[in-house]
Amino acid sequence: MSQSPSDNLKPWLRLPWDGFVVHYHEIGLKGGNRRPFTRRLQQNLTNALRPFKAVVEDLFDRLFVRVPSEVLGEALKAAAQVFGVAYTALVRLLPRSLEAMQEAARETYQALATNGQTVAVRVRRVDKTFPMTSREVEQLVGRQLVATTGASVNLDAPDILLTFRIYADSVYLLGPKVPGVGGLPVGVSGRVLALLSGGIDSPVAAWLMMRRGCLVDFVHFHAFPNAEEALVDKVPKLVETLVVPQGVSARLFLVPYHTFQLALLMSKVPPSLELVLFRRFMVRVAHRLAQEHNYQAIVTGDNLGQVASQTLENLRALDDASALPIFRPLIAWDKQEILAFAQRIGTYALSLQPYKDCCSLIARHPQTKAKLEAVHRAEKQLPLEQLIERTLSEVVVKTIHTEPLEKDATQKSAKEMNTIHSEIGNGGEGSG
Ligand code: ATP
Ligand code: MG
Repeated sequence: MSQSPSDNLKPWLRLPWDGFVVHYHEIGLKGGNRRPFTRRLQQNLTNALRPFKAVVEDLFDRLFVRVPSEVLGEALKAAAQVFGVAYTALVRLLPRSLEAMQEAARETYQALATNGQTVAVRVRRVDKTFPMTSREVEQLVGRQLVATTGASVNLDAPDILLTFRIYADSVYLLGPKVPGVGGLPVGVSGRVLALLSGGIDSPVAAWLMMRRGCLVDFVHFHAFPNAEEALVDKVPKLVETLVVPQGVSARLFLVPYHTFQLALLMSKVPPSLELVLFRRFMVRVAHRLAQEHNYQAIVTGDNLGQVASQTLENLRALDDASALPIFRPLIAWDKQEILAFAQRIGTYALSLQPYKDCCSLIARHPQTKAKLEAVHRAEKQLPLEQLIERTLSEVVVKTIHTEPLEKDATQKSAKEMNTIHSEIGNGGEGSG
């Protein structure tokens, strides 16, 4: 389709529509996969489109969304951002008759055409009981259109493409295809825990795992004296930016760094190993949270060679501290690609905001190729189990819901925090 993308929607939106259709890729949707997939997509779309008061119907091979006409364009663009969506398009419902298609073609062309733009009619007969073939309908609608409007036809690269789809109970007149973000609906691929810093890479890594259908919860290590300060800073906003458009909620575990920091200060760990040890500590704490809350993997924004300390040796030293797989979707990306991606998914500006990052409190010249033996030796100087237990007891959890955070988050957060320790203890039923 030559003229489509969402910026070209504007003139189309002036026409009367009944809603929009959402299509997903059929690949991998055999047998038992289909129902969980479509049910989840329907649920996520319903949540993500709640601000538009949308009603989402599952029609076996597609979803149909009805929203009030004044928010149609916005709702359609929001739907295109939901993982699992291949494309969406405006729909006008017509009776199953040739005359209805001819009439709608004429109206639509006349409403859209300026300066004799060319046109093509394309028809797909999904329901084969319709008494004419797709080609016959195309010709009859096209001929009538030319006769009544004087439009000239260009089948290869029309300025205006009129698409009809004939179903068993109605005919769809479709607006331009708006490509979706693809992937799988969040929730069909299990649960993972992402290590989220305030930086640029880790939100992109989490987004990529969400696009493969993972429910992602987040753990962030902060250098504030208490979690209230971390709660009003950018990290919860990053989580919100990632999950709200997907119609899911997520947990954010806020973990203080100070307990580990104090232990480091009192130890004789060589400063060059402090960073690797802290990274391993983060992984261990994440691992414990994963056991308690049923996450199947840990996700990081690690990249090979982006900074001097991101070497294979150091990455291996992290894997050595975890029995769970550590996924690093950005391992082989160039920084420029990651930056462009962060801009595209809307996390870039937040990530750039200045932040009190705990890694910056650690020695300036970290070991670039930490030897496992040396790491193990250094770690023995720390009361690891005790530090993990103490740190876990200080974790604060914030659930980020599909509704955006309120402007004044402080009071609500303080109230929520009272219930947080019990939440940590009970294994949690998870987000979503
Ligand atoms: P990012 O932009 O994600 O911070 P980075 O290039 O700055 O990445 P590092 O700071 O070396 O890389 O961190 C590597 C990874 O370790 C991060 O992508 C993140 O997954 C994790 N990480 C780093 N700092 C923290 C933190 N304070 N809390 C949780 N995870 C962290
Ligand atoms: Mg960082």
